[in-house]
Amino acid sequence: MIQTEDMEFAPRMISPENTNEDNDIETTLRPQAFHEYIGQDKVKENLAIYIKAAKLRGEPLDHVLLYGPPGLGKTTLSAIIAHELGVNLRVTTGPAIEKPGDLVSLLTSLSDNDVLFIDEIHRLSRAVEEILYPALEDRVIDIIIGKGPSARSIRMDLKPFTLIGATTRAGQLSAPLRDRFGVIQRLELYSKEQLTDIVRRSAMILGIPCTLDGAAEVAGRARGTPRIANRLLKRVRDFADVMGNGEINQKIASIALTRLEIDELGLDSLDRRMLEMIIKGYGGGPVGLETLASAIGEESVTIEDVCEPYLMQLGFLGRTPRGRCATKLAYEHLGFRFQDDGQLTL
Ligand code: ADP
Repeated sequence: MIQTEDMEFAPRMISPENTNEDNDIETTLRPQAFHEYIGQDKVKENLAIYIKAAKLRGEPLDHVLLYGPPGLGKTTLSAIIAHELGVNLRVTTGPAIEKPGDLVSLLTSLSDNDVLFIDEIHRLSRAVEEILYPALEDRVIDIIIGKGPSARSIRMDLKPFTLIGATTRAGQLSAPLRDRFGVIQRLELYSKEQLTDIVRRSAMILGIPCTLDGAAEVAGRARGTPRIANRLLKRVRDFADVMGNGEINQKIASIALTRLEIDELGLDSLDRRMLEMIIKGYGGGPVGLETLASAIGEESVTIEDVCEPYLMQLGFLGRTPRGRCATKLAYEHLGFRFQDDGQLTL
């Protein structure tokens, strides 16, 4: 999994997407209750109130849409919501619900007030989405029985339930679907301090000795994302075991992460390639997303979902209607001199 320039197609060490390698630790590290879930305070406070109100009234929680980049804790939060409500959680993803019948059998198998979590909800097919509208609004589904002129539609009542939809791209959700969510919450990238707490919590659960500055070093390079922080912790542990006495401190973490080609701000070779292309290939921008993607041989969704949110948070990238621009900070970080006239000097 170590990424080098000649392994461009290997999964990125700092990709926020879930990889098989994460599964073993994700289950152990997933917070089970709001008090263990670090950060996202506004979202937690709001949800806690809605949950309490729903429980007081003995009603299901309103449908919830969670959006934000991958690895920020949407799945974790949905499990906490179900746990706090004291109901069952069913987990699926948009692409896994291939036919309307798949959704019908999921919906009819729910018990009173259960939570159905659909990850990547923007990838539901149109036919499946249409079953969802009356289910969300009136708790009914219309099933067509038979074919041709003898086909008839039967309406079935559903038990009260809550849908939690998660997406990395709220903009891609159709308006009728978006309008059926009573609660819409955006998850933000985490601060270095919050990620330091997450790394320390994970190290404690996994029994890895880790100093405060060691945790901070890992957190500072985890690009605002808990999933990446946990993955880096695991890799740095290998270096600490082999090169040190097993303890993760600032020095070991820094050596390990530099070896993994993740710089002190969390940028990897793809981020650097992208910024360098904007600077050297397009005079600092603006350059359109598709042009940029093909210039560096990367998918535009990866650039948009993975690279850009973090580069924008760092203030390295600007998005204008005419395309992407590298900022003065990006020039300086990569060792270029920024000049207003667009001339490039090293
Ligand atoms: P998403 O569904 O947004 O892709 P997940 O909920 O799967 O993200 O979170 C990825 C991992 O990050 C989880 O296994 C969990 O260990 C960790 N994590 C996420 N959010 C938090 C948090 N707020 N506090 C502590 N750990 C977290």
